[in-house]
Amino acid sequence: MKESDLTGKVYDIQGFSVQDGPGIRTTVFLKGCPLRCPWCHSPESQSFAAQLSWMAMRCIGVEKCGKCLTACTKGAITSGEITKSIGIGEAIKLIHVNRLLCDDCGDCARACHPGGLSMCGADYQVDDLLKQLCRDIPFYEQSGGGVTVSGGEALSQPEFTLKLLQGLKAQGVHTALDTTGFSDYKNIDAVLPYVDLFLYDLKHMDSEQHKKAIGVPNERILENAQKIAAAGGKLQIRIPVIPSFNDSEKNIKSTGKFCKSLGKAVTLVQILPYHNMGVAKYLRICDDPKVLEAEPPSEEKIQNLKKILECFALKVTVH
Ligand code: SF4
Ligand code: SF4
Repeated sequence: MKESDLTGKVYDIQGFSVQDGPGIRTTVFLKGCPLRCPWCHSPESQSFAAQLSWMAMRCIGVEKCGKCLTACTKGAITSGEITKSIGIGEAIKLIHVNRLLCDDCGDCARACHPGGLSMCGADYQVDDLLKQLCRDIPFYEQSGGGVTVSGGEALSQPEFTLKLLQGLKAQGVHTALDTTGFSDYKNIDAVLPYVDLFLYDLKHMDSEQHKKAIGVPNERILENAQKIAAAGGKLQIRIPVIPSFNDSEKNIKSTGKFCKSLGKAVTLVQILPYHNMGVAKYLRICDDPKVLEAEPPSEEKIQNLKKILECFALKVTVH
């Protein structure tokens, strides 16, 4: 296969992003993640395959349209309930997608022009994606921004991520890699020369708790952070604060101690308070979401955790 034929599965490209590293950035979100965080706010990123996404507010109703009913030859779409549409403000008959019959072929999404049905995940060739990303180089340069490669876990598509980062650096673009850290170190070692900043998640310092909630232990994640620091990489640590999981003072102290041990590699620690906006996204791709629904942490709690981290002489922000 020629290098230019290399494709990656991408589910979103967000321009003018200011949350994923310094300056104005474009963030590329890749499909597929080996972790299963119950609070994940991008559940559409977890599967490596393209998936049918159903957004009721964009549907104009079976009476006016109904094209998906005939487009689906698997019998997976039927007329559903009558409901007041948030999108068009009147009562319409929506569709129902039977996920057990659906094989994510995408025929209905191609027939649905209003965008109620769409496919989440598409193959991109590296060169095409690079051309698209490099169009905004003037914005990156003016703002001190660049491109962030995110996921899912971008290192789960290691060749594509490497070629993308190499191509961006060849154009002088600042690069950030948003990672769970759960990858073979050889994948990280390969991208290290092409990553200006790692946005690196630390979810829990206790490996058993980590495994119980997320499905994988944390040793590899911690070791990889240490190896990146030793190799001269820069880390912006991200701590999602999840109620009754990792928000104890004990865990945050332990996290602060670990960040401190990484020395000058850590440029910033970001606290990301839990929010429950992911729930609606789960319902777009499945009927029975396994998702954490909890009260977001109070401002007082977050400020207390911030103070604890600052005791380790770390620069800390709340996202
Ligand atoms: S993706 Fe394919 S199988 Fe699934 S509902 Fe649409 S047309 Fe039917
Ligand atoms: S094709 Fe789209 S807009 Fe038309 S009924 Fe189906 S989901 Fe609704």
